[in-house]
Amino acid sequence: MKRVVLATFNEHKASEVQAIFNDLGVEVEVVSAASLGLSSPVEDGVTFEANALLKARAAFAECGLPVLADDSGICVDVLGGAPGVFSARWSGGAGVVENTDLLLRQLADVPPAHRGAQFVAVVALVAPGADGRPVEQVVRGEIAGNLTYERRGEGGFGYDPIFVPIDYEVTTAELSAQEKNRISHRRRALEAIAPYLRALP
Ligand code: IMP
Repeated sequence: MKRVVLATFNEHKASEVQAIFNDLGVEVEVVSAASLGLSSPVEDGVTFEANALLKARAAFAECGLPVLADDSGICVDVLGGAPGVFSARWSGGAGVVENTDLLLRQLADVPPAHRGAQFVAVVALVAPGADGRPVEQVVRGEIAGNLTYERRGEGGFGYDPIFVPIDYEVTTAELSAQEKNRISHRRRALEAIAPYLRALP
């Protein structure tokens, strides 16, 4: 079985990525950078692509194994794509509930027709190439939806309680983990990276 390092320090994310690859029939064993004792770089990029790539490059430089890294967030249409890469820190580090509550307050007067948003996940792959130079691939997955006016549901994490995917009536926090994994931005990005993983030696 091919081993792929996931440049994350969140074991939950490693198991979620493993579950999605299993579902897609991609035969890889996902190990987290944390379990290998790798260090975590400062995420100072201003795009999802820059952050995913810097995390993948840093882990690859330390371990030399194929590395996947992801960077994700929520992009709100009327905010010109914000919070974007600042999703995890939108309330200045106050907390996850504070992030969603701040976003809801900012959009309190925005009518339903203008509450569009996307969850975005960018995945970068950095792996040893045939000629000794690293191979790099960056892909993006998105899911479109609308923001609610209040938090709904207990599942998921982050902005899930305030995001209703297009064609759904419930938030992603009200979906089962399996159902969210079937339609998520992360699933779409991992689907896009799968052919490159399959092509690795
Ligand atoms: P990171 O890529 O793990 O740093 O996540 C960035 C932030 O984006 C998270 O802390 C969440 O606030 C938000 N986010 C990314 N993906 C999701 C999701 O699937 N549901 C809800 N929030 C998400």
